[in-house]
Amino acid sequence: MCGIFGYVGSRNNAGQLVVKGLKNLEYRGYDSWGVACKVGDAVLVEKDIGKISAVNESEFAHDCGMAISHTRWATHGGVTAMNAHPHLNEAGTIAVVHNGIIENFQSLRNELKEKGYTFKSETDTEVIPYIIEEEMKTTPDFASAVRKACAKFDGRYGILAFHTESNTLVATRTGSPLIVGVGEDGYFIASDIPAFMEHTKTVQYLDDGEMLVTDGKSILFTDLETGEEHPKREIEITWSVEEAQKGEYAHFMLKEIMEQKDSIARAVNQDDDQIKVIADAIKNAQGTFLVGSGTAHKACMAAEYFFSVIAKHHVNVTSGGEFKVHHHFLKPESLMIVVSQSGETADTLEAMKVAKSKGAKVLAIVNAEGSTIDREADYTLLINAGPERAVASTKALTGQMAVLMMIAHAMNDKLHEGKTLLLNTVSSINDMLNPRYIDFLEEVAQEIQHHEDLYIIGKSWNYPIALESAIKIQEVSYIHAEGFAASELKHGPIALIEEGTPCIALLGNDEVTPDIISNTIELKARGAQTIAIAPENNEAFDTWIKVPDVGVAQAIVNVIPIQVLAYFLAVKRGKDPDMPRNLAKSVTVK
Ligand code: GLU
Repeated sequence: MCGIFGYVGSRNNAGQLVVKGLKNLEYRGYDSWGVACKVGDAVLVEKDIGKISAVNESEFAHDCGMAISHTRWATHGGVTAMNAHPHLNEAGTIAVVHNGIIENFQSLRNELKEKGYTFKSETDTEVIPYIIEEEMKTTPDFASAVRKACAKFDGRYGILAFHTESNTLVATRTGSPLIVGVGEDGYFIASDIPAFMEHTKTVQYLDDGEMLVTDGKSILFTDLETGEEHPKREIEITWSVEEAQKGEYAHFMLKEIMEQKDSIARAVNQDDDQIKVIADAIKNAQGTFLVGSGTAHKACMAAEYFFSVIAKHHVNVTSGGEFKVHHHFLKPESLMIVVSQSGETADTLEAMKVAKSKGAKVLAIVNAEGSTIDREADYTLLINAGPERAVASTKALTGQMAVLMMIAHAMNDKLHEGKTLLLNTVSSINDMLNPRYIDFLEEVAQEIQHHEDLYIIGKSWNYPIALESAIKIQEVSYIHAEGFAASELKHGPIALIEEGTPCIALLGNDEVTPDIISNTIELKARGAQTIAIAPENNEAFDTWIKVPDVGVAQAIVNVIPIQVLAYFLAVKRGKDPDMPRNLAKSVTVK
């Protein structure tokens, strides 16, 4: 959520540089933007509501070696230019951008008002520069004053602030990600790597409870509370600038859907011994808990079926935000598997912290290397999907399911068979995603685009895929879509079916196929327009979207035409599939 990007160093175009980089963080979701540049001894601030992509970088061609910028995802105070960040202190010497929430801002604001401060915005953020200013009255060193100010803040946040007189940039983190790009001519500090990727691929991660201070020539990481120095590793990132760009595609979402031709194979390409160790850890654990949020939660739900059918092993699946309630069942001998694209999902991280506090081991299945979940887990399997920029998760989901399915096979001593099945599935996906197929899905979207309600049914592992399909369609097209276990239809939802209501059935070629065909016939009998994603046609289907028959890997294949359909539904309805309203890419607030 929100994007932060700042630079300090020997370049003299920091304003232009941060505006350009901020445009690469648009995918995170935001409603307004702002920039503060140190020009001479003054701070120039520009901020507004709307899109940063419409802003011309040349407007920021000041002679400037230090600047910070922000895309805001409003939590406290409406979407106005005044509420947009950066916020300054009264003297105009300190500029602050902030991601997250200062939970005790009301009492802090009241104290500041008593001291004579007047507030220009409705945000929680505006207390930050004033409190730093207050601290500097007794602690003139900027970084030390920021440390003392942070001791007064409750909540999860990331803060980037500069001080003109000392030419210092400080970042602190108690929840929201901040990553440093180490350049030859300065330091780049951002919520995510694409902001500075064109300048450097050497990164350092700021951890929770840490602070960094830089003047552009050197950088110091310390414990936010004690000030003790923390040594920091430099990490080279392996993906390329091209991978982080749209290339020939109109949108990242479509590019990332098409990349599943390769990305699933990269997920499958794991070290066999490591997978076997993890399979044994699950077998030996006293209770395995699978936790994810949103689409990653649906990967966990699908995995529950993989573990049941392939490994005959029970696992407990919970969404990140719901886990806390179940903490009684965790023992030091338990295992938690956390699944996340970004590795920063606040709800999932919270569940992981509960597991660690109980002494349980944590396995992470994530896409973002170096993310908080990756760093804090006991073991990590990276799915290697490459950067996922569209808000709606696509290739990360199939990578997560592939890794979980491999583990399920390894638990049954069938790792080799599992890998072969998945690699054959990848080649079937490759054949399936041809231009004619994509055109056909566009036609299906064209036909149903004006409906405001749409239902999806599935059984077995196609049930979580029905839930995921609903999420995908909701988030990008804003159609009211709902997924159901096919057998649940007659227990209520069938009352919603009217003449012409589009209903999508997800099928494989297995023992539940006759049941779901019956459910589809029941829908058709009530006037539904039936669309099936299935390896074989049936007279119950008004429209048949053919998918290859890949046995136990059917869930991985069946979700792909739905992703394409969701994409075209968004485009046909005039929505931007990469930046859906109200949503953010990595959900770093609870
Ligand atoms: N809570 C702050 C605000 O509403 C920061 C929001 C954000 O993370 O963008 O301004």
